[in-house]
Amino acid sequence: METYHSLKQLQLGLKQNKYSLKSVVEHYLKQIEEQKHLNVFLDVYANEALAEAENLQKKLIAGKPLGKLFGLVIGIKDVLVQKGYQVRSASKILEGFESQFTGTAVQRLIDEDAIIIGVENCDEFAMGSSNENSAFGPTLNAADNSKVPGGSSGASAVAVQAGLCMASLGTDTGGSVRQPAAFCGVVGIKPTYSRVSRYGLIAFASSFDCIGVFSKNVEDNAQILEVIAGHDEFDSTVSNESVPAYSKDLQLSKKLKIAYLKETLENEALQTEIKEATVAKLDWLRSQGHQVVEVTFPHLDYLLPTYYILTTAEASSNLSRFDGVRYGYRAPEAHNMESMYKLSRSQGFGEEVKRRIMLGTFVLSASYYDAYYTKAQKVRRIIRDETRKMLAKYDFIVLPTTPTTAFPLGANRDNPAEMYLEDVFTVQANVTGVPAISIPNGVDAKNLPIGLQIMTDVFKESELYAFADYLMKS
Ligand code: GLN
Repeated sequence: METYHSLKQLQLGLKQNKYSLKSVVEHYLKQIEEQKHLNVFLDVYANEALAEAENLQKKLIAGKPLGKLFGLVIGIKDVLVQKGYQVRSASKILEGFESQFTGTAVQRLIDEDAIIIGVENCDEFAMGSSNENSAFGPTLNAADNSKVPGGSSGASAVAVQAGLCMASLGTDTGGSVRQPAAFCGVVGIKPTYSRVSRYGLIAFASSFDCIGVFSKNVEDNAQILEVIAGHDEFDSTVSNESVPAYSKDLQLSKKLKIAYLKETLENEALQTEIKEATVAKLDWLRSQGHQVVEVTFPHLDYLLPTYYILTTAEASSNLSRFDGVRYGYRAPEAHNMESMYKLSRSQGFGEEVKRRIMLGTFVLSASYYDAYYTKAQKVRRIIRDETRKMLAKYDFIVLPTTPTTAFPLGANRDNPAEMYLEDVFTVQANVTGVPAISIPNGVDAKNLPIGLQIMTDVFKESELYAFADYLMKS
């Protein structure tokens, strides 16, 4: 099979009989095998994917109508459930658990003739920025195997980066699609909160969690989001807003008003090369006749505390269901009910997850509820209002995706506070619910990918994709 460039090109090749879908799947299975050291897939559905390829090929030969994602070979983060398959959230606590239903986003992929090739590693319960918090070992960055791929959807990004599949579904609660996309040099979107149904997504922080898409280019990304987005009777929080044909509408139709945040470019932690690459893009936009304006956002310092108070609170509540009774792991030496809960949870969860459950339980406890949880809710509202006000004035906010490029494995492992700083530029979109995308923006001196992030107002994914495509082709 020729190297994959886009879904459109793949579908054309299939229709012209240049290659069979089976040979396409075989190609990816071979890549997965050859690059096993990256530790991307926790399960590979080799037989199922090959059988599906043959089914779909028959459909093509018979001249039957083909799904929008016909032939797309896609990987799924290990937090999205599928009927009859194991799902683990990269945790020991779900050991042996099999789902009894398939989540909406995954079902919609299947219904549009995509082929699920396997389940991708991630940080345990999607908590982390490096993919090192997995009970199944870290995933390696394909650009440099001594570096992390980012997290928590690190493996979903590497799968696309290393050509192990064409696209991936990940999740983004605080940056978990955009940050690994930046570290791995691929495209990653976090749509508007409520754009995609969360039915079948193992919850981390329910008022933040979004399913997102990784791909090599903007058009594929748009096409996949178009399929998975939209109303769903199984998730009462999902929006009824209609889903535009994102991929058909990638043209920019006007000169833009673009804001960049002074505090992001002046941030002390920002690596010089990332600053330079971001400024260069802004200068280029100016040279093309767009209005580029510096704005101040004094709330930047409040983003991370707000995010970490609210998400740990929600996580402590969401994860209480993993108790040794209903799902997966139960400590074998438990001798009564209390010890079953305690031992199963102590042994089943990893360090970072336990840290967050304890933090979240603390901020929700009677004497601290108002001081932390209620206050953080109020700050969230202020940040959201200020951000939305800015987005009413400007078409887009442009900022770096991350303060640094991919860091060495182990560098932040024992320093959670340092690890949390990784999310400084990504959490704003989650705290406020607006959509944001990360696109590749060159490399640093060590050849490590740099990401550029674009935010826009809610439900403006069409505009976001059009602008991202324009920038990627510049
Ligand atoms: N790195 C962030 C965290 O650890 C984001 C996680 C996510 O988006 N799932 O919370």
